[in-house]
Amino acid sequence: MLRSSDFDELPKYTVYRDRFRQIAVANKFDILSQPVSGQGPFLRELKSDLTIDFAFINQNAPVTLVHLSGVHGVEGYLGSDIQNEIMSKIPLRNLSCNFVFVHAVNPYGMSWYRRANAQNVDLNRNGRENFHPVESEKDFQRFQDFLSSKNGLSFYAHLGRAIIVAAQIGRRNTAQAIACGQYSYPDSLFYGGDRTQFEVEVLIDTLFGIAPETHEWIFLDVHSGLGKWKQELLILDGLSTPKEYEFFYDAHKAPLIVPGKTKDVYLAHGMLSNIIKKRLSNVCYLTQEFGTDHFLKIIRNLILENSHWHQKRNQLSVPIAQNMVNSFYPSDQAWRKSCLSLGRQRYHEILHRLRLI
Ligand SMILES: [Zn+2]
Repeated sequence: MLRSSDFDELPKYTVYRDRFRQIAVANKFDILSQPVSGQGPFLRELKSDLTIDFAFINQNAPVTLVHLSGVHGVEGYLGSDIQNEIMSKIPLRNLSCNFVFVHAVNPYGMSWYRRANAQNVDLNRNGRENFHPVESEKDFQRFQDFLSSKNGLSFYAHLGRAIIVAAQIGRRNTAQAIACGQYSYPDSLFYGGDRTQFEVEVLIDTLFGIAPETHEWIFLDVHSGLGKWKQELLILDGLSTPKEYEFFYDAHKAPLIVPGKTKDVYLAHGMLSNIIKKRLSNVCYLTQEFGTDHFLKIIRNLILENSHWHQKRNQLSVPIAQNMVNSFYPSDQAWRKSCLSLGRQRYHEILHRLRLI
């Protein structure tokens, strides 16, 4: 039995969701909450479902601007902060555009402090039409012992071997092999699933339902955990068109990363944007990443969380959850301030680029 004091230090999905809903209502957004099956650690007492929450203003405009948080559950705490910052500080009503803020695309992962959903699927590797194994899995398989370490000791025991393999195949191939997505090891990390996940279907259907008359969709998708401490990365996807590049470059006047083209950046399979682009027409999609920890520390925390989750599902380990929070939502005030300010700034720049302000 966990004492309530054990949880005190952890951010809580329910608290963040309540705050998101309150700020949305206070700023005259409509709200739609879509239930997702599964339980969170604090929901039973509240008799509440996990939900993906949509706060929106539909002004029957041809353009819809969508802001996503929590595609990788635990990263949703930062995304939620940024959404509240934008909704409360930028007056959007009366601008000729439709606005949607999606809180916690993966609410299960957010409430359990994990990246993947209740099926252990990474939603940002699930955006494919077929789920066949990919080329890089041959290399992924060589890291399997390391990636399925059961505890801190076995992590360090396997680390030496993993470093040797990494040296043999090179840095870029290592990143590609481990993190670009895999479709053969359902218990492991970066698993893309064997079918389109419920959360993805609900996300796309609900967006279309909210603004069916949209001619052009602009997405800003907030993530954390990739890059150096406090570094911001603006990332397009493998399907990005010159028009998309131009749009975001014009808006932000900042370097854009094009995976597979920008040096040393791996190309992930099945990014969420890929399936969104297949289902909705005229999509411009930008991922905003905020760097936190050293990648090895992040990998270690992901491995230990994944191992614990498979062994003791529905039992929260506070130290493991705390490590995940430290890696994806550090409590450092300067870090949070910088992310909030860049989160608001990039949104503002898109409004400017759309000539709305
Ligand atoms: Zn992410």
